[in-house]
Amino acid sequence: MNTITLTVLGSTGSIGSNTLDVVSRHPERFRIFALTASSQVEAMLDQCRAFAPRYAVMSRPDAAQALAQRVKAEGLAVEVLAGEEALCEVSAHADVQVVMAAIVGAAGLAPSLAAARAGKRLLLANKEAIVVGGSMFMQAVREGGGVLLPIDSEHSAVFQSLPEDPSTWSHRVNKIILTASGGPFRTRDPKTLSQVTPQEACAHPNWSMGRKISVDSATMMNKALEVIEAHHLFALAPEQIEVVIHPQSVIHSMVEFRDRSVVAQLGTPDMRVPIAYGLSWPERIESGAQGLDFPTLKALTFESPNPERFPGLGLAWQALAGPLGTTAVLNAANEVAVAAFLDRGMRFDRIHAVNEQTLAAVLPKVTGGVDELMALDADARRVAESCVSQWVR
Ligand code: NDP
Repeated sequence: MNTITLTVLGSTGSIGSNTLDVVSRHPERFRIFALTASSQVEAMLDQCRAFAPRYAVMSRPDAAQALAQRVKAEGLAVEVLAGEEALCEVSAHADVQVVMAAIVGAAGLAPSLAAARAGKRLLLANKEAIVVGGSMFMQAVREGGGVLLPIDSEHSAVFQSLPEDPSTWSHRVNKIILTASGGPFRTRDPKTLSQVTPQEACAHPNWSMGRKISVDSATMMNKALEVIEAHHLFALAPEQIEVVIHPQSVIHSMVEFRDRSVVAQLGTPDMRVPIAYGLSWPERIESGAQGLDFPTLKALTFESPNPERFPGLGLAWQALAGPLGTTAVLNAANEVAVAAFLDRGMRFDRIHAVNEQTLAAVLPKVTGGVDELMALDADARRVAESCVSQWVR
């Protein structure tokens, strides 16, 4: 078996470390080419010791400098690089076959795009990259000639439920149904959402994830971003995408075909399953996850999302109906709003207000080029920031 070389973007995060957990179960199959992070020097140093990558990239120069000193002191044969350009280099490098895109936020767009353009097998966890890049991102994948495999458990489920030949999807598929756990506030009185703390918002009932996606799950903005992601990944009209709450997180998503037959993918809520599938596709390898124990499953229940509790979900369809670039505006607003909630004491229910106000204030006029989209992202962040400043200093 030939060894597959892998770059893990965002290796110190939740998806990144789960990816390395799967990789460590198959040392004969995978070799780590590069690992990347932003500021966590100690975590990166541990990973360098364990996986001996050729490159370790820190997006922050101060962190890169600190890591380089530690790597040198320990005599590790790892070259330390800094900044966004280096992230793109290790994604597009000729010696890399597979890139796991697991940076959080729009910061992951440029390196993911570099991997797509270079024709790599791109394992996309970083949903914000496709929400910002939209059809330009999908075009880069097509022109690069590589493969894009979704890592989000819902999109992996849809992908596993669809026929192998994508050219059959448009005439066979009626709609897809993305499942959502409903997060920690599924049954909480919406009137009390103003008092939610970051700790409560990050305490997801089923999944253990990074802080940003945990808050997105609590507002269901995560599902809104996933609706936009699904629209691009599977070339579906927005009205062919439905969201249903399924609190047990056993069914990860479903496809309804023209004849009304529904195919679903099930499993325990463990991100190593979709990660292992992306790494090994079209093969299947051991992921480390527990199997489902059906006799102990009490019930699988479903409900519609309550728009009063989850007003953000509807913004997905609103943004998809807007001019090109509107989804990038929504993503930028949400990143600013979530950071303000987590780090600056903004009220939880203001996240939606920031998103709504930014969408109303920024009317994109772009043709879809990456520079234009990044300029739009910056504009939207400025507007979102001024919304935030109404409520926090
Ligand atoms: P984490 O916050 O746990 O990890 C983020 C990673 O990105 C870390 O390695 C971090 O480095 C790095 N990073 C952060 N900011 C930057 C930046 N500006 N430039 C370069 N690198 C940066 O996030 P998750 O692993 O939870 O999520 C990653 C992506 O995967 C998100 O887009 C999320 O929506 C998606 N996803 C996550 C799931 C999950 O279960 N966690 C499930 C499905 C999708 P450092 O550690 O140094 O800060």
